[in-house]
Amino acid sequence: MKINQNFLNLQGSYLFSTVGAKCATYRAEHPDREVIKLSIGDVTRPLAPIVVDAMKRAADEMADAATFKGYGPDATCYGYEQLIGSIRAHYARRGVVLASDEIFISDGAKSDLSNILDLFSADNTVLVPDPVYPVYVDTNIMAGRRILYADANRENDFLPLPDPEVHADIIYICSPNNPTGAAYQREGLKAWVDYALREDALILYDAAYEAFLEGDLPHSIFEIEGARDCAVEVCSYSKTAGFTGVRCGYTVIPSTLKREGVSIGKLWARRQSTKFNGVSYITQMGAAAVFTEEGERQIRENIAYYKRNAQTIGRMLDAHGIYYTGGKHSPYIWMQCPAGMKSWEFFDLLLENANVVGTPGSGFGKNGEGFFRLTAFATAENTEKACARMGDYIKTL
Ligand code: PLP
Repeated sequence: MKINQNFLNLQGSYLFSTVGAKCATYRAEHPDREVIKLSIGDVTRPLAPIVVDAMKRAADEMADAATFKGYGPDATCYGYEQLIGSIRAHYARRGVVLASDEIFISDGAKSDLSNILDLFSADNTVLVPDPVYPVYVDTNIMAGRRILYADANRENDFLPLPDPEVHADIIYICSPNNPTGAAYQREGLKAWVDYALREDALILYDAAYEAFLEGDLPHSIFEIEGARDCAVEVCSYSKTAGFTGVRCGYTVIPSTLKREGVSIGKLWARRQSTKFNGVSYITQMGAAAVFTEEGERQIRENIAYYKRNAQTIGRMLDAHGIYYTGGKHSPYIWMQCPAGMKSWEFFDLLLENANVVGTPGSGFGKNGEGFFRLTAFATAENTEKACARMGDYIKTL
């Protein structure tokens, strides 16, 4: 028996595990201190009432032999019509027309972003931004793929554009971005779509934070002409509607999307029906309530709450003249470490002096060195307390 040697090429531990371990050690050594975490991207607001009601109704249906549901419908890869219909309507409001068989329901974006790699040869070259959501890198290392990086930095506002000299087969784009909070305008996405079409590449577009966008920025890659021939979009209810513990997402694969003459959607349906048995009916009914008129209103309240936290963090950084991006179109604030500190150095000192935990930017890639990610997902009370303590500490530097 041989193991997959590619796993040995992974870095020692997942970034958030290291942050968690350091935090746990500090808490054990200082049980009297209240540590506030502005690090991991988990939500704190409860589910919207309309979602909870829909889930309770679905649970009642499961309790009655006349309305009980087993496996989901085969025809749509286990997605129920109510949910698929609400996702279609959500896209239609932005002028994107999708057919039911172009939407695949899943237990979240992380699984789909990883599992879709089953469809592609290990010879493909992958292009990811740096800094980057670590899952894109680690899943490709596990599969033994060659990875190239597109530099995201202050000079390009953390929104890299394609380099015509570089060839890639699989391109990851995350907008609004984790970790930087930067969001592409239409022109930027158009440049990536044109590049992908020229290179016969495939874009994996991660729209997990689209609900945080403001103004006239594109929410979907399919708002860009040509994207139906080169892109797959992965989205999630996790941050949109607080489903991190419920688990539901969806992937959009246009029926026209082919590579080497093979339909990507058909391959994905084949993969899913072999290795996956769908998302629970109760979860799907809860998710279907999200994109109703009332559902949208209720989730907006939670998103506005997180945005107020982002503003609190932004005000504190502004007061100390610290450069940052994000916070406007995303729950992430990407700040430069004060006093020229390196990311882990600032992490340790902030934990020690302010009892606040963030995520070191260097954990997201080489261009993250000297940066630090804060999230707006804590409670308002904790965010205010953490900012006051951070401000007091930064003043001393
Ligand atoms: N994509 C990005 C960029 C994320 O930051 C996250 C979660 O933090 C995910 C995907 C995973 O989302 P899900 O909870 O749907 O698996």
